Amino acid sequence: MENLLALTLANETPSQSEGEGERFHWRWLGSGLLELTPWQPTERSLVLSAGIHGNETAPVEIVDRLLRALFRGETTLTCRLLVVLGNPPALAQNKRYLFSDMNRMFGGRWAHFPESDETLRVQALENAVSTFFATAGEDRWHLDLHTAIRASYHVRFGVLPQREKPWDESFLSWLGDAGLEALVFHQSPGGTFTHFSCEHHGALACTLELGKALPFGQNDLSRFAATHHALRALLAGEETQHSSGKVERYRVVQQLTRRSEAFTLHMAAHTLNFTPFRQGVLLAEEGDERYEVQKSTEYVLFPNPSVALGLRAGLMLEKIT
Ligand code: ZN
Repeated sequence: MENLLALTLANETPSQSEGEGERFHWRWLGSGLLELTPWQPTERSLVLSAGIHGNETAPVEIVDRLLRALFRGETTLTCRLLVVLGNPPALAQNKRYLFSDMNRMFGGRWAHFPESDETLRVQALENAVSTFFATAGEDRWHLDLHTAIRASYHVRFGVLPQREKPWDESFLSWLGDAGLEALVFHQSPGGTFTHFSCEHHGALACTLELGKALPFGQNDLSRFAATHHALRALLAGEETQHSSGKVERYRVVQQLTRRSEAFTLHMAAHTLNFTPFRQGVLLAEEGDERYEVQKSTEYVLFPNPSVALGLRAGLMLEKIT
């Protein structure tokens, strides 16, 4: 079962659906879903997901390496672990998605999308995560690994779901140790996988954007070394090496939504993530509605004028000082 990735890409069922690894029990729960339970009791439960967007291959390769290290006994597992390879058919075709973007559908939002393999997959993932957390202790983490589509002023950054309770500082500092240069805090609910785990299961959750990805086998994984090392330490229950870099913090202050064909985004196609805009600048318009910068400076994240109608065409952020 250490070859979960190959099995998943080939759409094959393993000959054995559970067994023993090096001091852990494993269970295959379906395509791209593997649960590992250490023999020793543990307080922590971790969901580690990648490939929710099928062309974001580097994180999938990192997860593949971590699993191999666990099965070979090179890393000792000290937490309950649910590994999720998000969108297997899209992964096999190196496409972001085949019909609709899964990372907009969580928290039951799949019901508002035309039914497809991806709406069904989101339901299956919600069920798998709910079952996993149903028997978990208080210490719940979900790390969802992605790579960004566009270039960015911060090469690696994390996006955190809205949360009523304050964030655990040790979780935030782990994210910095994992190589993230910035953290973005959502202020309202959303349809991402990490929003689901946070809202429904109280997990400390983060979407990690880890720079640009290339097709399978072409990724230079050394660029992802800090994240890989921090994940390995997390699984082993070891301290991470503390990064010296400052982690900038931002909060979302407005969302640009493409509601109709009339939507126009006033940004160049190659605009970098975290590009600053001064107060009063016209960001986008749609008929009579104008989106302008409200704060003294706002920074754009994920600008995309060609999203499906009703979806997010960009987020505007302000720095938290
Ligand atoms: Zn992604």
